[in-house]
Formats: sequence, structure tokens, C-alpha cells
Amino acid sequence: MGSRIAVTRSSMPSFDEYTDEIRDLWESHWLTNAGAKHEKLRELLKEYLGVENIALFTNGHMAIELTLQALGLTEGEVITSPFTFVSTTHAIVRSGLTPVFCDIDPDDFTMNTSKIESLITDKTVAILPIHVYGNICRIEEIQDIANRHGLKVIYDAAHTFGETYKGRGIGSYGDVSCFSFHATKVYNTIEGGAACFKDPSLDKKLAQVRDFGIVDEEIISYVGPNAKMHEFSAAMGICNLRHVDDEIAKRGKVSERYRERLENVPGSRLSPVQKDVKPNHAYFPVVFDEALFGATRDEVFEALGKNGIGARKYFYPIITELDCYKGIYDPSETPEAQRISRRILTLPMYADLSLTDVDRICDIISGCRA
Ligand SMILES: *Cc1c(COP(=O)(O)O)cnc(C)c1O
Repeated sequence: MGSRIAVTRSSMPSFDEYTDEIRDLWESHWLTNAGAKHEKLRELLKEYLGVENIALFTNGHMAIELTLQALGLTEGEVITSPFTFVSTTHAIVRSGLTPVFCDIDPDDFTMNTSKIESLITDKTVAILPIHVYGNICRIEEIQDIANRHGLKVIYDAAHTFGETYKGRGIGSYGDVSCFSFHATKVYNTIEGGAACFKDPSLDKKLAQVRDFGIVDEEIISYVGPNAKMHEFSAAMGICNLRHVDDEIAKRGKVSERYRERLENVPGSRLSPVQKDVKPNHAYFPVVFDEALFGATRDEVFEALGKNGIGARKYFYPIITELDCYKGIYDPSETPEAQRISRRILTLPMYADLSLTDVDRICDIISGCRA
């Protein structure tokens, strides 16, 4: 048995690079509340992501939740997908809104746009689609539907840091696009997140809601939590941003090797290469079709585990099957999401994963067929 391989590994700058970056915090003693590092990171990210407006948060979840609050969406229905990380739905429910679940397209795992309109009612206020694994949604179709029905579009763009669609930063689509800078994502600020938005008037509102709703010392206008990004996180973000293009290129090599090794294996289906998209290789999902492959997803997961290799059943179960939502929503209403979630596995993926290790992982997977 070779050495253990985790499903992911957080990107970090060198120790010296980080300590150089945080040195001036010992002079300023300004640790949070839109300090110098925060403001610098904001400018750098605007440029890197190709967006006009951006607000930073403690994490990606708060970016989504407080976007709903800042848009004034406090009641009604939000059309979303159950094939996501639990954060997306929690943000809707915790805001007092009702999620309405749209099924996914089994080919790229994003929202099936042909099903959206039948879910729209007079209570619908927004569409909250997810760019899954770096696969981007059918952006034009979603925008057309939203325009026709007067709905807001908020993208959960947690998986798509650094991607472009038709040459434009992915964060520039929709009314708002929310990123996560969690340690396990392509780009991290340890914990962190951002909302990129079209309407510049949201800037002030988002800054207020993420700081208890404080407008000034004597005026508190909203019931907001504390969700500000602090200086040490922003400093990590400044450092990691210097290396993210390299990291994405290295992930590209890993992805390429997986593809070469797995694309002709019967019964293992890979994520599509999308047209007009500059990818970030955030994840490497494989859908195992037992009848053709000769083993189930769970058998592959266990075989990898026995060899010290961490894969992830991501996303499984779907949101509507989770304890906290069970019995409230009907998982069988989104059969494709349910079917895919039982067959999909994301393989180890990070910049420093060696091609030798990728080969070892692929050998084990192929071995499951026997
Ligand atoms: C990571 C993630 C989030 C939440 O981001 P945090 O920074 O962990 O709060 C939301 N949605 C999706 C799809 C994610 O992968």
C-alpha cells in the first residue's frame, strides 16, 4: 500500500511569504473592520475576477445568506437545486424563504432549465442556481426566464473561482454571484467568501448587514449577524492570489491525466468539457454506472478507502434526503439528482497531487471492474 492520499489539500503560500504579509499588522494594530489588507484584497479580487463590485465575508455561506437579506428577499419561494452543498439551501431557509427544488441535467449536474418555468408561482422571488464542480449553469436561459418573470438571479459560484464564460468573469453573471474561499476550495482565505454584484447600491447595504446592521454608531437599521472578513484571512488571500493561476494549471495536469486514464473505461462517465468556459479544475467527479462498469460507486469508494485514498460522495445524499429536511420536501420530485447522487464520486484533486498517485488511483478504480 502506498502513502495516504486525501481528497483535497489546502493551498498555502510559504511561511515567509505569509509572515511578510502580516508584519505590518503589528504596526497598525488594525485587525478587522475593513482594514488595509481587506481593502487591498477587494481591489485585487475585482481585477482577478473581472467584476465591478465585490463584498467580502467570513465565509461563502454568509455571502449567500446576507445577499438574500440585502436584496430584501424575506418571504416567498426561491427556485434552487437539491444537488449542492447544504449551505445553499440553509441560506434560503434561514432567511425565511421557501426553497423549491428543480431537478438537474444529468450530463453536467447543473439546474435543468427546461424545468424551471413549471415551478414558478406568484410567490417566486428568485432563482438560486449552483455552478456544480466548476460546470457552469445555462446562464443565458436562466437570465431569460428571470427577465420574463421579474426574478432575481443569485448564483452559488462557490466551485467556480477563477473561471470565465465567453471571456467574462463568472462572478459578473446574474444579479449576484457568491464565492467561497474555504480552505478546501481552489482559492482560500482560510475561511472566507465574497458576493459579486451588479447594482452598486448593494455595496453599502452588504457592508451594513454583515456588521450587525450598523449604519452608524446610533443607527442600527437591520438585524444582521457579524460576518466580516478579518485581516489575517485577507492577508492569506493576498498571498494565495499570487499563486492561484499556477495552482489551477497544475490541477489541469491532474485532470488531464484522470481523463486519459478513465475516459474510455466503460460505465465511468466524466464531467463534460464545457464550451466557452475557462475551467478551474475544482473537482474530478466520476459517475459509475454499475451495469456497465461492473461495480457500484460505494464499492469503488471502499476499494479506494482500503488503499488509504480518500474520495468523497459529493453530493450524497441530496438536500431533500438530509435529516433536517426529510419529510418536508419530496426527494423523488428530482429523480435525476437522486440518481446521480447515488452514483457519483469525486476523486482526490489538488495542485500538488502527483501523476504517479493519479495513476495509482486509476489502477485501483479499474481493478474494481474485475
Ligand atoms: C463551500 C460551499 C459553500 C459554503 O461556503 P463556505 O465558505 O464553506 O461557507 C456553499 N455552496 C457550495 C456549493 C460550496 O461548495
